[in-house]
Amino acid sequence: MKEIVAGVDIGGTNSVLGLVDRTGKVLAESSLNTIEYPDINDFVEALVSAINKLLSTGAGGYKLLGIGIGAPNANYHKGTIELAPNLAWKGIVPLADLIRKKIDVQVIVTNDANAAAMGEMIFGGAKKMKDFIVLTLGTGLGSGIVINGQMVYGHTGFAGELGHTTVVPGGRACGCGRKGCFETYASASGLVRTVLLLLSEMREESILRDIPPSELTSRKVAEAAAKKDPVALKAMDFTAEKLAFGIYNAIGFSSPEAVFLFGGLANAGEILFEPVRKYVEANVQPIFRGTVKILPSGVPESNAAVLGAAALVWNEQSQEEIQ
Ligand SMILES: [Zn+2]
Repeated sequence: MKEIVAGVDIGGTNSVLGLVDRTGKVLAESSLNTIEYPDINDFVEALVSAINKLLSTGAGGYKLLGIGIGAPNANYHKGTIELAPNLAWKGIVPLADLIRKKIDVQVIVTNDANAAAMGEMIFGGAKKMKDFIVLTLGTGLGSGIVINGQMVYGHTGFAGELGHTTVVPGGRACGCGRKGCFETYASASGLVRTVLLLLSEMREESILRDIPPSELTSRKVAEAAAKKDPVALKAMDFTAEKLAFGIYNAIGFSSPEAVFLFGGLANAGEILFEPVRKYVEANVQPIFRGTVKILPSGVPESNAAVLGAAALVWNEQSQEEIQ
């Protein structure tokens, strides 16, 4: 029987799952509408039955080694989801325990950015690295920090909240209730916020003025920047500067070999990476100059969430083999 791991990414509206082999190949995939299950017990029931359905598709049979799960506000130590604002399940949800009652395998739960970092280490660009950071730049900014080959989970199990470190004291209001958080500037939605501000401040012509504010996306801004649109270029440069600020502070903290940028904003490509590298090199502490690569993720984006979640289990499997 082929050994297999299930990777699950739980999102506010949609959850995706897949069976992943040791080489990072996704053999079968499925999804669930998270919002259709306001009761966590119903969700667990549906998830387990979806996993069993995928397992039944293998011609020669699959041996399930474990289930890796990326979810918002996930506590790695306890296997719980705690006080997640974008999920219907309130309070502290003992997700790993509930699943184990139905399928007797290892269940590992962590937040989606940590799962992305694990995906980078097992299947992506960080395969040979022991020290690196992954920043996921979507609606918010998530981070996974690996030091000495180990994911940093911290005392609480919630470590790696670089998105809510302060880059501008008293700055933009953040969803966490504080001000000036890294993610309010350096994320796909942070870039859009910057564009909206610049459109009211700058007098220059801009193709972005023709787009209704509710339809502005980081992708449209990147496309405008590629066409040398002055507002888009200024917004990209400002965002790169703030992103670099968070990165060179993080470099001083853990001296990574690389920082991988992933997700919506990172898809802007060199128009973002080039100024980020410039600002990092100009501002990082001199002993770290030239020591850190700023790279795009090496995990294919279409499967990244499932691969990252599955990598949580494959990582533990490979460590057991070494011992
Ligand atoms: Zn915040």
